[in-house]
Amino acid sequence: MADVIIEIIEDEENILNIVRSYLEKEGYKVISAKDGKEGLDNFNEDISLVLLDLMLPKISGEEVLKKIRSISEVPIIVVTAKVEEDDIIGGLKLGADDYITKPFSPKELVERIKAVLRRIKKFNIPRASVIKTSDGRLEMDLDNNRFFKDGIEINLTKNEFLIMKTLFSNPNKIFTREEIIELTFGYDYEAFDRAIDTHIKNIRQKVEDNPKNPQYIKTIYGMGYKSGGVEDVPFK
Ligand code: CA
Repeated sequence: MADVIIEIIEDEENILNIVRSYLEKEGYKVISAKDGKEGLDNFNEDISLVLLDLMLPKISGEEVLKKIRSISEVPIIVVTAKVEEDDIIGGLKLGADDYITKPFSPKELVERIKAVLRRIKKFNIPRASVIKTSDGRLEMDLDNNRFFKDGIEINLTKNEFLIMKTLFSNPNKIFTREEIIELTFGYDYEAFDRAIDTHIKNIRQKVEDNPKNPQYIKTIYGMGYKSGGVEDVPFK
């Protein structure tokens, strides 16, 4: 098996050392950096996952996240002392795959890392920057978070956009509500199973010709939801 390399970008040395020793015990290779600049300098395409502290000297974690995301789809777990939901969602929108708040237990962190790596294996990660339905009517611009129907921009909320991204990126998959939450917001995001239904309902109002007979987001009874009209993901 190829080495799984994890980059830890963390300025608190004691946290870095503890996390490193836990990860090495699990058989991962660890590269570390103690500020944002070093984190970017050390980043390379062999890295399987980045563990990124947000509060960093020299270059902030947010900037590091944006920079890495502009060149790579590598999974990123954000470590944050900020607990406000807006920051967390902001972080996820910038392209983090999950987050963990300080203080955390190293054991929990290892579980998170494993979960993210599993998820990456299980689902396609969208490489395309634009996803279109095969009838050409709906278009998602993933680089700029914009959504169009018949060439006209539709205003989706952050959460609506992220849910559509999840569904459209995996066109052949039927998603349970839990999977939509897990893949869209991270697995322990304040679970709000039924809130997914509300989001879907609102999305349908915006994107479907007839929300009562939806073509683009199908309900699979007893299971969940599936995208409609997306044949394949055009990988770059
Ligand atoms: Ca820090």
